[in-house]
Amino acid sequence: MTEDAKKLIIIGSGPAGLTAAVYAARANLNPLMIEGIEAGGQLMLTTDVENYPGFIDGIMGPELMERMRKQAARFGTEYLTDNVTGVDLSKRPFEVTTGGESFKAHSLIISTGASAKMLGVPGERELLGHGVSTCATCDGFFFKEAQLAVIGGGDSALEEATFLTKFASKVTVVHRRDRLRASKILQERAFDNEKIDFIWDSVPVEIAGNGKVEAIRLKNTKSGDEQELAVGGVFIAIGHIPNTSLFEGSLDLVGGYIVTPEGGTQTSVEGVFAGGDVVDFRYRQAVTAAGMGCMAAIDAERYLEAARLA
Ligand code: NAP
Repeated sequence: MTEDAKKLIIIGSGPAGLTAAVYAARANLNPLMIEGIEAGGQLMLTTDVENYPGFIDGIMGPELMERMRKQAARFGTEYLTDNVTGVDLSKRPFEVTTGGESFKAHSLIISTGASAKMLGVPGERELLGHGVSTCATCDGFFFKEAQLAVIGGGDSALEEATFLTKFASKVTVVHRRDRLRASKILQERAFDNEKIDFIWDSVPVEIAGNGKVEAIRLKNTKSGDEQELAVGGVFIAIGHIPNTSLFEGSLDLVGGYIVTPEGGTQTSVEGVFAGGDVVDFRYRQAVTAAGMGCMAAIDAERYLEAARLA
């Protein structure tokens, strides 16, 4: 056990955590960031990022994260490249355990993000960022006049399909059943859109392409028949999993997401703040996560100040 309690530990190193670190370090909170073995979050799996303000010609996702990391380091953020294995929020100071050590902290910021659910089929990982995407808002612009597939039958799938018709010449929604899960209004909008068609009762079994997506192979779940669909991009919209298993039983969660008040970052435990995709199932953007990280750091600073712990 490291004896002295830290003022602040930040768990998770995506845009929310690193922005929190910049703000907290500049406020002299000497934050310790436990960044995870796979540091950097979802942007590490992205290629071009063109919608993060300040980068006129865009920037690669991993480079953006490296810059944020260096910026937070410049103001004195301390990094630990390890996974958190446990947290005890019933004690004061809080206790955070990693593979090898335990740390005490008077406040915590949780920015552990969410992971897009993936299909687990051949080609998917290799072509991620090269035609395979989990975010239409982020990547739709790169697919002008392309033929695209969207996988899933929920609200996200239909919202993404509809959004993608602004760019694509055709969008095929592939759903594993013959009935959509999405809300009626989104269904009607998609059925009315001439650029959207549907392939029912089908699941992808392979995403094919040489350096970029060229086709998707589908299997009919009823007949077992397979077909190949020539597409330039595949958008996977089968849901997200917030990374909150560490906090089950100690923080209020809804649908797995950490609960915070509208416009705030305080969790159900005083002194524990959260921001980014671990809270946000609505916007899921790097810039909104960064904004929430900033809010969490300001909230933590005010909490520590009021409790005379800063
Ligand atoms: P979701 O509602 O869980 O839907 C996931 C879809 O993907 C389902 O149709 C599911 O099929 C399919 N799926 C899951 N695993 C699959 C797999 N391995 N292979 C193929 N298909 C698979 O997720 P979501 O659409 O991301 O929505 C999440 C939440 O956010 C929902 O509460 C939703 O209402 C909300 N949301 C709302 C809006 C809006 O109101 N504008 C927009 C986006 C999201 P089955 O149907 O067969 O299970």
